[in-house]
Amino acid sequence: IGEHSKPLKDFFEACNSLFLKVTTIIVSVIPLAVFCSICSLVMLTGTDTLLSLLYFLLTVVAGMAGMIVVYCLIILIVARLDPLVFLRKHAPGMLTAFSLGSSNASMPYNMQICRNDLGISPKVYSFSIPLGATVNMDGTCIYLVAAAMFLARIYGVELTGPDMAAMFFSVFVLSVGAPGVPGAGLVCLSVLLVQIGVPVEAAGLMMGIDSIVGMFRTASNTTGDVAISLVVAKLENLVDLEVYNRKSGD
Ligand code: ASP
Repeated sequence: IGEHSKPLKDFFEACNSLFLKVTTIIVSVIPLAVFCSICSLVMLTGTDTLLSLLYFLLTVVAGMAGMIVVYCLIILIVARLDPLVFLRKHAPGMLTAFSLGSSNASMPYNMQICRNDLGISPKVYSFSIPLGATVNMDGTCIYLVAAAMFLARIYGVELTGPDMAAMFFSVFVLSVGAPGVPGAGLVCLSVLLVQIGVPVEAAGLMMGIDSIVGMFRTASNTTGDVAISLVVAKLENLVDLEVYNRKSGD
């Protein structure tokens, strides 16, 4: 469109700047908003709510530990490989995902582990890791279910069997749609809360601990991606067993 492209480009750049400005303003008041939201909830329900947050955190972490056990069993039974080798070699990957809090940002390191330590063929991991980072969010699923039930209880919302069934599908769709970036689970939670009839401001209670829970979620999400890449590669005979069984540093 020749010379008309310039005003159009300027328009989109102006929209982008406006969006960033509005986001910056909102982000700067979030700590205060979270503080006020938690204060009002504690005044309404008592300090026990804060203690139950700790139990919530422990529940989520236990759920994610359970998920890692499930992956180990799949590696043992389906792929017939030693899961302890997987855990040992993928431990730095878990730590990286934990500290980055983003499946997308952890992708390059996970691919490196797949290639250099687990002996998975690039034919598998170059497809499965990006796919997994986008759609496979088991940690986020555990978090969404636990958080929704926890907040429903605090706000006195009764969840019936059909509610749970509807929640199952919503959690599935939300976790597939969640981007692999920090805080994505919290955004999905606010959508889920509306669906089950819990006031959306309840998500404010989760904001205070979201960065910690988000780290566990991401470690669980990326462990799933790498574990399933390993299983698929083994079933397709695309794992270099010599590399997989080699001790680190050999
Ligand atoms: N941060 C998570 C991830 O990147 C997504 C989430 O927030 O649940 O996997």
